[in-house]
Amino acid sequence: MIDNHNYFKNNYEESRETFRGLLSKVQEVWPEAKLYQHAIGENEDNTIDVIYAEATSSNDKVTLLTSGEHGIEGYAGAAVIHLFVDSYLESIDPSTTGICLVHAINPWGMRHFRRVTENNVDLNRNYFLEETDVPYDLNENYEKESRIFLPKKPVDVISKEKTELYEALSKGMMNEGYKGIKQAKGMGQFQFDRGVYFGGYEEEPSGSYIKTWQRHLLEQFQKVIHMDWHTALGPTNEVTMVISEKHGIKEDELKASYGMENIQVFSPEDVKGDSTNYFYELREAEYPSTSLFSALFEFGTFGTSREAELREFTTIILENQLYWEGTEHEESREWIQEELMNMFYPKEKEWKESVLEEACEAIESVLKKENILESSASHSSHE
Ligand SMILES: [Zn+2]
Repeated sequence: MIDNHNYFKNNYEESRETFRGLLSKVQEVWPEAKLYQHAIGENEDNTIDVIYAEATSSNDKVTLLTSGEHGIEGYAGAAVIHLFVDSYLESIDPSTTGICLVHAINPWGMRHFRRVTENNVDLNRNYFLEETDVPYDLNENYEKESRIFLPKKPVDVISKEKTELYEALSKGMMNEGYKGIKQAKGMGQFQFDRGVYFGGYEEEPSGSYIKTWQRHLLEQFQKVIHMDWHTALGPTNEVTMVISEKHGIKEDELKASYGMENIQVFSPEDVKGDSTNYFYELREAEYPSTSLFSALFEFGTFGTSREAELREFTTIILENQLYWEGTEHEESREWIQEELMNMFYPKEKEWKESVLEEACEAIESVLKKENILESSASHSSHE
């Protein structure tokens, strides 16, 4: 069993400190590796941290691991990157393979245990090739049911809020309210800056910075392999690969060739502003000769039942309301904060163990297929 105590940190600064400390380990394999620290925002010491090295003789391929696009989800992502450095570096050939590790794409969100940025933006709905691509009037269902999604008053007694919301959502299952929020989750919305699933009026500083790395890697390497770590979606205690249909391979074929049970292919028609989809678009437009694999990897928490879905929306909506409107009820605050952790960073040992185990399987299945890991490579806990 992997000792998970080591990997899962309690706050942003501890996690960042640990990540920065990985540089010396990376330098044992890539002596030229460097740490880049990019400040985001002015009021706090929040940075995106990147450890990067080119291949030592020929830039054939690069492994890119990113974490914390959704702030609070970065704790699991950082754990995975740490485990990757501990367990797999010696199975990679640095002469032909570069490395790029990214800690906390949304550092403010990670520090404050929120999914969104300081501008209330869901970063993974904020990546567009051209500024004119932002779909400002995308989501009419959201607008119709905005009373559900937009906070207008402080959070009341939690049992009352929960009952009301569950009722509104489950009654709405067959009508526009529910369609609205399901659609908003995928498509984002670009009109209400205090609403849930807001994709932003303009490009976020975090997105701009990550785009420079995406471009740099596509330019420098023949092949880019990107694994972006997230939490919440999919079956409980399992990993799910989520990949844009722009990758060009169907779900069945992906399952067979990666040997992974949970794979979801999404269409850019249903999901706007996704960073991996942007990566494919950029490759197509400007670096057509570079080969790219870019996918999200999600560690499931609540599960996939309808009950789980309701619980998820309730948590997201109440957390947003609490942030903007506050509450006079301490119990309400505690319940919401705890439920948010249950959804994105559960404290259960079983979940943390499953993150590490499932991450190893995903890493091995992707990186062996790309011939980045030797076929014999495996995490020590499997021996
Ligand atoms: Zn996420």
